[in-house]
Amino acid sequence: MERFFKKIILYAKLPEMRLFWFFLPFLIVLLAINILYLPQSWALVSSGVFLILGVIILINNLRLARLNLEIKIERNELMSIISNLRDGVIAYDPNFKILIFNQAAEQIFNLQNKDIVGQYFNPERAQEKRFKLISQIIFPSLAPTVVRRSEPGAYPQVVDISFDEPEIELRVATDRIIDPKGQLLGFVKLVHDRTREIELLRSKTEFIAVASHQLRTPLTGIHWVFESLAKQNLEASQKELVDKGLEASVKLSKIVNDLLDVSKIEEGRFGFQFENVNIIAFLEELIKDVGPSAQQFNIKFYFKKPTEQSIVLSVDAQKLSMAVSNLIDNAIKYNVPNGEITLGVERVKDQPYVQISIKDTGIGIPADQINKLFTKFFRAENVSSAHPDGTGLGLYIAKNIIKRHGGEIWAESEINRGSTFYFTLPTDPKLIPPREILYGEE
Ligand code: ADP
Repeated sequence: MERFFKKIILYAKLPEMRLFWFFLPFLIVLLAINILYLPQSWALVSSGVFLILGVIILINNLRLARLNLEIKIERNELMSIISNLRDGVIAYDPNFKILIFNQAAEQIFNLQNKDIVGQYFNPERAQEKRFKLISQIIFPSLAPTVVRRSEPGAYPQVVDISFDEPEIELRVATDRIIDPKGQLLGFVKLVHDRTREIELLRSKTEFIAVASHQLRTPLTGIHWVFESLAKQNLEASQKELVDKGLEASVKLSKIVNDLLDVSKIEEGRFGFQFENVNIIAFLEELIKDVGPSAQQFNIKFYFKKPTEQSIVLSVDAQKLSMAVSNLIDNAIKYNVPNGEITLGVERVKDQPYVQISIKDTGIGIPADQINKLFTKFFRAENVSSAHPDGTGLGLYIAKNIIKRHGGEIWAESEINRGSTFYFTLPTDPKLIPPREILYGEE
């Protein structure tokens, strides 16, 4: 009961109750006049009407006051959550007028909330030095390097934006603010500062780069020793040992080279050199190289060529051959004896892309692991016993190579039936990203 009264007193003090308090004296005066001057029966009726009216106004005002108070509390809670978020939050209306700019955003953009809230933005404002960074976030097309992480047109839009001066790496998620009727009220951007994360990753990568670089020279020595020994006239038991050593040194060199490639990719210095290449002739050459190893496992190889003789694309032939060879090697390695591989090339309908597919009849990939396929060091559960010596780096490298070309890579698979790996390459060189970016674990 006490709480109820406290609540009533709280509501009674709210501004929404002012109208009621303003009319209350008039109501009382009218009531008094009624009682004093009207005949008793009329006075009774009109006082009743006045009382009912008064109660209706009171209840309505109390309801309004309660609702407004709840909205205010919710709004304050939301604002305090937003202002304490570790990621920057920027909200603006459809005319690009800034509505919200929290503390984290103040730090990232080196701007004060009071200087920015209420300001209208357009691409020209990027000319003003202090608004350059925020303009590039609101209009990412102005930013020096942008990598899209979500499908075009889909919300939330996620992009990674890198700046050189100052050196900042940001991940920006943009979503629309829509009312229940579907009307667009504005946009909200969540800005995550990844500069430190990227720095840490760089130092980890540097360690791997130095370690694998140091390992390469002694490994070449070991490999050379085994190779020379293998050429000697050896007894059968000695030859067996030397062959095993040679095989191990080849595998070790592959691991070290893969690690070195990964560290170069992660440092953004894999060094791509684009040239115009007829992709059909390029794939035909590659098949010649893998032919013998497919034959070794009695695997039939088919190449489904398009009708056109030549499709010229801008690619780094050496890097692309690394990616495609890895996909074909996997299709051989994870196939069944007497299996088949089909390589296909086709233009994507109504889109400026060519799609290449590598289909095998092999062991397949467990459905619950297919989403991890292109992550670093991933090896599926069904391969570890039969093929213990993979690194799990080939597909990660392949993904980075394809993405650097402006393409996408993905796979479909059915366990014990086979897998198909697909990748696309743009036919329009404008769709090739302007510089090397790490396409990490996501
Ligand atoms: P590696 O082959 O050295 O293990 P990759 O990165 O090339 O490394 O492949 C990662 C994993 O993906 C493999 O270990 C395997 O589990 C799975 N995989 C790749 N290609 C195929 C394929 N064609 N069929 C079945 N599994 C595959």
